Amino acid sequence: MTIDLEALFIDLHRNPELSFQEVRTAGIAAGHLRDLGLEVTEGVGRTGVVGVLANGAGPVVWARADMDALPVVEESGLPYASTATGIDAEGHEVGVMHACGHDMHVTAMIGAVEELVRTRDEWSGTLVVVIQPAEEFGAGARAMLDDGALDRFPRPDVVIGQHVTPFPAGMIGVRPGPQMSASDGLHVVLHGRGGHGSRPHSTIDPVVMAAATVMRLQTVVSREVDPHDLAVVTVGAIHAGTKNNIIPAEATLDLSLRYPDDALRTKVLAKVERVIKAEAMASGATEEPTIETLHTLPATINDDEATERATAAFRAAFGDENVIDPGLFTGSEDVSWFARDAGVPLVFWFWGGIAPARYAAAVAQGTVDSEIATNHSPFFAVEIHPTIEVGVQALTVAAREFLG
Ligand SMILES: [Zn+2]
Ligand SMILES: [Zn+2]
Repeated sequence: MTIDLEALFIDLHRNPELSFQEVRTAGIAAGHLRDLGLEVTEGVGRTGVVGVLANGAGPVVWARADMDALPVVEESGLPYASTATGIDAEGHEVGVMHACGHDMHVTAMIGAVEELVRTRDEWSGTLVVVIQPAEEFGAGARAMLDDGALDRFPRPDVVIGQHVTPFPAGMIGVRPGPQMSASDGLHVVLHGRGGHGSRPHSTIDPVVMAAATVMRLQTVVSREVDPHDLAVVTVGAIHAGTKNNIIPAEATLDLSLRYPDDALRTKVLAKVERVIKAEAMASGATEEPTIETLHTLPATINDDEATERATAAFRAAFGDENVIDPGLFTGSEDVSWFARDAGVPLVFWFWGGIAPARYAAAVAQGTVDSEIATNHSPFFAVEIHPTIEVGVQALTVAAREFLG
């Protein structure tokens, strides 16, 4: 009996679940893994699932797929578009959509496991399938690790994973070294002293402090980071005050920071902190700003040697012309926590999900940016075939490369 992967994908797409609420999705994945003969543990890191396929002596490969959806109202126009709603972490009712393609990740993983089970006489070792929650919170991998994933299951020798992306279907994008940026989300509270708007001299005005801080933060990348390096400092939210004639007691800023590696991360974080504290001091604040880290995503850095092995295997399977270096992505991922905590190599790649003819037409017209919806867009639409088949094959090829 073979699993109907198209039906599985459409079912997951129609029934997306928000981060840490992936109960139905986890149950479906666990059911398939159990049917395929794996030893399955549910509820790892809240909603995570781990399946172990022990197949004799040899290396342990962890293959990870994330499964959460996003608070996005789907506008793809697909016949199987989601109309689901959910309650987000703040308690708001929101539309829910698999706008990042994690439905495809789960589908391809189940297909790859089926293939590896079918061919188990040809390899030996242990495959550990990690179905991860809450990637979009940057919290799911950490939750599974904090729940003892490395101690409760065979420890990996290598961690592999993949993400569907708006390349033509059939293409694989992979590179050794930095593949995706590190990211930190910071919540900053600037403490002033409130008072009457007519008596500014009796206050420490956090609105002016916030304005000066936002402007000075713009110089971190433009004046302090080497122009050859890539870094982003964005203040995405600023809040203070209630009324024109009241000077509030505090102001808050929410920052998103991106960098390709740990060294630049350390430098940029220190510079940002210095600017925030110095502007508070310049304003005469008597209390230091509070800087809280909302999330930390490490840089996704592919191990050189392991990635070269996987890339050679992809070239052999898909042809040289279908395996490209996609460059560094400014987006971020939490998959590398698994490899970092275990101290083992990571290989993470992208695979295309857009109909090749549609992609080629957009390239010809110079409209790729406007016509081809990216991940997180309400219009994001993955071509079912051959995306499923390529995703299954890529995972299988990479797993087989590292299994004995
Ligand atoms: Zn995403
Ligand atoms: Zn994603």
